[in-house]
Amino acid sequence: RTRAEARGRWRFFAAPMAAELERRVALQADLREALATGAVELHYQPIFDLRQNRPSGFEALMRWRHPRRGLIPPAEFVPVAEETGLILPLGEWALRRACADAATWPAGMKVSVNLSPVQFVGGEVAQMVRAALEAAGLAPERLELEITESVLLHHNEAVLASLQALRAMGVRIALDDFGTGYASLSYLRAFPFDKIKIDQSFVRDAVARPDCLAIVRSVAGLAAELGITATAEGVEGPEHMAMVHGAGCTEAQGYHLGRPAPLAELGRLTGA
Ligand code: C2E
Ligand code: MG
Ligand code: MG
Ligand code: MG
Repeated sequence: RTRAEARGRWRFFAAPMAAELERRVALQADLREALATGAVELHYQPIFDLRQNRPSGFEALMRWRHPRRGLIPPAEFVPVAEETGLILPLGEWALRRACADAATWPAGMKVSVNLSPVQFVGGEVAQMVRAALEAAGLAPERLELEITESVLLHHNEAVLASLQALRAMGVRIALDDFGTGYASLSYLRAFPFDKIKIDQSFVRDAVARPDCLAIVRSVAGLAAELGITATAEGVEGPEHMAMVHGAGCTEAQGYHLGRPAPLAELGRLTGA
């Protein structure tokens, strides 16, 4: 094999990787610009209290309003932002925006904000949250932070200390996407979460599959035993609503109850 051939083979494999890297570098620059110019938005999706049959709060979900591509969902830019560290200013912006928005809602209405594992590196997340609450004048009890078990993946003492500091402040902590990871039960033992959010994949399948229904029912029962909230994600139709009710979930969230929408469209639900 000649050197030219070898180089050709190398390029054959390297070209897609280089293109991917280029795409990420460009995306990162565009996203930084978007954050600076107000092109990143928060949309809000209602979380229903099934006992009171009314929304008890809203989850803030990030979107990027792109001039050509329209609304870009977080799955397309949050992972890149996590790799580059841009998630730190982006996440802080989202938290401050969400707290300021929630401060205009009726007092009973909570706001949930997703936190990335990257925001826990360095141990300053609790101070960042405290500053955001103070700037917005929002009571800590009205803020809920959603983390996935990847935050606790390494049973890191510093991460647990941050979570405890947040909880001591009065902020609620929810375990998001429950059931999709590897060792969910051990996380429930490691930290006293206020809420378990049952991943939408279980909720969707539980309508037709008895085994998935058994899982949803068991997680709801587990939450009840622990004295915490069980929220069903992905409630897309009346059949899901009936199922999560019957399974003992205490909260529900999904397109059937309300899609994520810009703040300006929430008036009817918040009563504001
Ligand atoms: P998540 O926190 O589990 O949020 C729920 C996702 O399910 C949202 O997707 C929501 O739009 C979608 N959803 C709600 N109801 C239904 C339904 O009935 N059916 C279906 N098929 N989907 C439903 P979205 O907004 O695309 O967000 C995806 C993920 O991106 C979120 O999952 C969260 O992990 C992450 N994310 C969103 N905003 C932020 C943020 O501000 N910071 C960080 N770090 N992550 C965020
Ligand atoms: Mg969430
Ligand atoms: Mg979730
Ligand atoms: Mg998710």
